Amino acid sequence: MENLEEQIKLLVELQGLDTHIFKLEDAMEAIPASINKMEEAFKEKSINLKKLEDETKALQLKRKEKEGELEGKEGTIKKYQSQLYQVKTNKEYSALQEEIGRVKADNSLIEEDIIKIFDQVDVVNKKIAKEKELLKQEEANLATDKAKRNEEAGQIKKELDGLKAQRDNLAAKIDKKILLRYERIVKNKDGLAVVPVANDSCQGCFRVMPPQVINEIRMKKDLVICENCARILYIEE
Ligand SMILES: [Zn+2]
Repeated sequence: MENLEEQIKLLVELQGLDTHIFKLEDAMEAIPASINKMEEAFKEKSINLKKLEDETKALQLKRKEKEGELEGKEGTIKKYQSQLYQVKTNKEYSALQEEIGRVKADNSLIEEDIIKIFDQVDVVNKKIAKEKELLKQEEANLATDKAKRNEEAGQIKKELDGLKAQRDNLAAKIDKKILLRYERIVKNKDGLAVVPVANDSCQGCFRVMPPQVINEIRMKKDLVICENCARILYIEE
């Protein structure tokens, strides 16, 4: 292989670019997921408001029930009162009076309940107003965070475009066969195809390399591949 030394230098440079590119691509891919997560978290926060609104609805329903009950009992009292004019005996009269008194007592209890419900609705409505204020703030935060992430994506995209153009230029200088080999290893080895040997060991898999292999790398006659992890080896000058 002619000028292998130069080819290896180019490969090392290519690996550096690719490592950077892969990192940026990962960061880019993570952005939609992180925006999704923010939106989910926001939805989670609005559950509280929904609960409070349901609570008010339930209280209003209860109030209407009580008011209906009260109306019914008022009708009963009126009926009894008109019956007072028709009774024949004192005993019947006082029994009816007693009954009227009982229903009136019931009614004042129901009225108290209704007032309590009004108070409860007040409390819940205040909580709702507070929650809405909070959510408004959260919504504004969400919009800001989303805009930030999108801006970040734009910047990453710009940087990636630059790096890829740089990569194309570099790849054009590399021998086609060597480049193909490199691409294949990058694909199979998690994006890392070219690794240095340091302290006598492959920095891809950390297996110790025999002196003979290290000699071969130094001779720069042919590409030397780690027998253990199949990556291209070089020695940093
Ligand atoms: Zn290795």
